[in-house]
Amino acid sequence: MKYNIKLSTVTTYKFGGYCNNFYKISNNDIDLFDEAFSNKEYFILGKGSNVAFSDKDYEGNVINPDFNEISFIKNLGEVKVGSSVFLPDIARFYKDKNLINAEFLIGIPGSVGGAVKMNAGAYGWEFSDILSSIEVYNLVTKKIETLDKDDINFSYRSSSNLENKVIISATLIGTEGDPALIKSRLKENIKYRKDTQPSAIYNAGSVFKNTDQYSAGELIDKAELKGFSIDGVKVSNKHANFFVASKGANSSSLYKLVNHVKEVVDSKFGVSLQKEILFVGKFD
Ligand SMILES: Cc1cc2nc3c(=O)[nH]c(=O)nc-3n(C[C@H](O)[C@H](O)[C@H](O)COP(=O)(O)OP(=O)(O)OC[C@H]3O[C@@H](n4cnc5c(N)ncnc54)[C@H](O)[C@@H]3O)c2cc1C
Repeated sequence: MKYNIKLSTVTTYKFGGYCNNFYKISNNDIDLFDEAFSNKEYFILGKGSNVAFSDKDYEGNVINPDFNEISFIKNLGEVKVGSSVFLPDIARFYKDKNLINAEFLIGIPGSVGGAVKMNAGAYGWEFSDILSSIEVYNLVTKKIETLDKDDINFSYRSSSNLENKVIISATLIGTEGDPALIKSRLKENIKYRKDTQPSAIYNAGSVFKNTDQYSAGELIDKAELKGFSIDGVKVSNKHANFFVASKGANSSSLYKLVNHVKEVVDSKFGVSLQKEILFVGKFD
């Protein structure tokens, strides 16, 4: 289905102008992929939890996959998930089936498609650790293709070989485990998030990537930027790598804040922070 939509209604930051070409595509209208991939700019949107759309209207097409199946194929030890399935729902599904190693997904408010693309992770786990293969719609060849995990070259919060491909589903490793351990890991992860991250919903998780050499949050904290704000968007006092927007704030303020923090950290410590969140649309 094609819609007109205000993009602020479909992202966790609640930023974004209008988009007249918002394609929500499910199994029933797969042919819409070809229309959405016309000669226009396009963006594939999952749950919008790692994205800040511009306040200006988006002139291109937004492709929003709508594939929600989830099933456990016991004899193969596999879990098949549609690309739109919410990550915390996977953690709960694994728990219900006594499957282990998806506990890290409990507090990540994204979809399977976004988690593959971003190689989302937490507590030492990454999505690629539980991934076996994905099914994609290749917008160029106009065919559904299967990619094994090894075809994707995952690294920290990054993947490759996914250009012009819409993820439709993923096959995950479903290993049976000790129910008590699964339960305690879930509890621990939920508590850790509550203790260390802001509860405000208007954010997109970590703004900058961490590396083996530094923690972005620690550098921002050391630069004394905790609590610093620009027009309603603030470096969280609880976790310096989370920038939280108040109701009615603009994406342009987040953009300015991100650039300001980057400049200050660079000038104080000589470290060039790399953005994890994605700015989409026109900002200058
Ligand atoms: C409160 C909060 C906590 C967070 N904590 C974490 C955390 O602990 N660890 C972590 O890694 N992230 C975290 N995040 C960030 C975010 O949730 C993850 O990056 C998540 O994987 C993004 O998924 P999404 O569906 O929202 O993707 P989107 O934000 O919609 O898109 C992200 C990228 O994925 C691409 N994409 C989305 N769906 C598809 C698809 N079907 N096919 C092809 N490409 C697609 C988009 O084009 C874009 O490039 C957090 C965010 C919030 C708001």
